[in-house]
Amino acid sequence: MPLLKRLLAWFQPDTTRPLTQAWLAALWMGLLANWPLWKQLQTLPGIGLGFTVAFAGMVVAATGAVLSLLAWPRLVKGAIVVLLLAAGALAYFIGAYGIVFDPTMVVNMVQTDVRETRDLLSWRLAVSLLLLGVLPAWWLLRRPAPPAQAAGKRLAGNLTSFVLAVAAMVVLALSVFATLSSTMRNHKSIRYMVTPLNGVYSLSAVGVRSLSGPKGPPVVIGADVKLLPRAEGAKPPLLLLVVGETARAMNFSLNGYARPTNPELAKLPPNSLLSLRQVSSCGTATAASLPCMFAPQGRADFDADKPQENLLDVLQRAGLAVLWLDNQSGCKGLCDRVPNSFTANLPDTAAPMPAGLCNGGECFDEALLHELDKRVAALDPERLSRGLVLVMHQMGSHGPAYYKRSPPDLKPFQPECRSNELQKCPREQVVNGYDNTIVTTDRLLARAIGWLQTQQARFDTGMLYVSDHGESLGENGLYLHGMPYALAPREQTHVPMILWLPPQGALAASLKPGCLQGLLDKPASHDNLFHTTMGWVGARADVYKPEWDLLAGCRR
Ligand SMILES: [Zn+2]
Repeated sequence: MPLLKRLLAWFQPDTTRPLTQAWLAALWMGLLANWPLWKQLQTLPGIGLGFTVAFAGMVVAATGAVLSLLAWPRLVKGAIVVLLLAAGALAYFIGAYGIVFDPTMVVNMVQTDVRETRDLLSWRLAVSLLLLGVLPAWWLLRRPAPPAQAAGKRLAGNLTSFVLAVAAMVVLALSVFATLSSTMRNHKSIRYMVTPLNGVYSLSAVGVRSLSGPKGPPVVIGADVKLLPRAEGAKPPLLLLVVGETARAMNFSLNGYARPTNPELAKLPPNSLLSLRQVSSCGTATAASLPCMFAPQGRADFDADKPQENLLDVLQRAGLAVLWLDNQSGCKGLCDRVPNSFTANLPDTAAPMPAGLCNGGECFDEALLHELDKRVAALDPERLSRGLVLVMHQMGSHGPAYYKRSPPDLKPFQPECRSNELQKCPREQVVNGYDNTIVTTDRLLARAIGWLQTQQARFDTGMLYVSDHGESLGENGLYLHGMPYALAPREQTHVPMILWLPPQGALAASLKPGCLQGLLDKPASHDNLFHTTMGWVGARADVYKPEWDLLAGCRR
């Protein structure tokens, strides 16, 4: 009965063979590690069981095709173990936060520091890693060595397996073609949910990009920059740029949010404060937004792969003093050539941080204000006499552990979610924790303005605050940020931008009365930051576009 024997052999596969291991791994990861994808598909209209089964078959076949090419003794086990562990982690993050894993996410990961990573670790992640990754990996590593086989024969077997897998994908795709093409068109992010191929693809894409990217010094911009002459007796400008983090416009009461999230800023004279209500971010993640915000090109023409100087280089070349103060994981290269400091690194002469401001290497944003006079005094006096642009890079509302971003005395909204597993908390508690971070930013900005007021004898002061991107707080099952821009919900791209211009200052005096109010609902974006700053401090260069300077239209 050779047929029966062969059938039985099929059901009792030789698990020492690399090709068998490859297909078992493809089945395991394709079916189990993609549970968030299967769940997501069920929520889409017009998707039935038949489509889900066909799609699952395609995912298994695609994974099997890739692993078929790696099905060599000594190679296959290592490759599968790496993929199993990646799949365990990816399944957790995709399932828990509704994120997708695309090349931008890889860049974000690489630029994240330890404390941000710590916020993302949880028991559920450990369980996902254990069940989906470690256990099958342990089983695999205990398989004995495969029977010897000639390399040519093995190559032929692997290639046949690859071709059959691709053929199966094509047949399955054709069988559900209409639904497949419309689903892929309307829900492009689905492809970045296919685990662990999303990881393989995104890492390779970023790797290729960084290898092929041009090396060498950044391209000079604004080489011709000059400062406009100041009027007789006018004070040099001091502009505070506050780069917010993960703040979304709709949760600011200044923008009409129903809860009092801006109690301190609301106390300032209304004619000194301008909260623009229609501002879009350049990206949906810090790593994408920050370089673009400080570039003159604007979102449409900015190319992150071409290293170039930024706004701070231009201001410094103009002769101004520049200082970048960071309370986050760094400035993404923006402050490399200008004086910069982290909140934890105090000037030599500074008094120690007040108790409670910093814990375990992590500081509340108000640490940015600590000993600010001394930090400024340490800058070049000649540059200071021409003006100062001070940048504060906040930790802001960085998730998922929102509750860690507001100090104990500043939590008006209760109860707040005390877990970094947002999906486990009731949504109101997630929003409470998040709104407490906005109140914390509100107090930071108000106190920063208070400090600016102490500088008015010496400088003509002003402040511009803008967040780097927004945040999803469970709308449509989405959390956090970093969606591909074209698919990102408005929550992730609609950011607050607040200008403080004291009415007695020279800049306010140079503007047409009442003109600023006309800007409130005019669409604006990160594209305006470079040019508005240049205009604000009186720096001019060929790259300066007055039409992108928010204040230019209001100057007398
Ligand atoms: Zn960010």
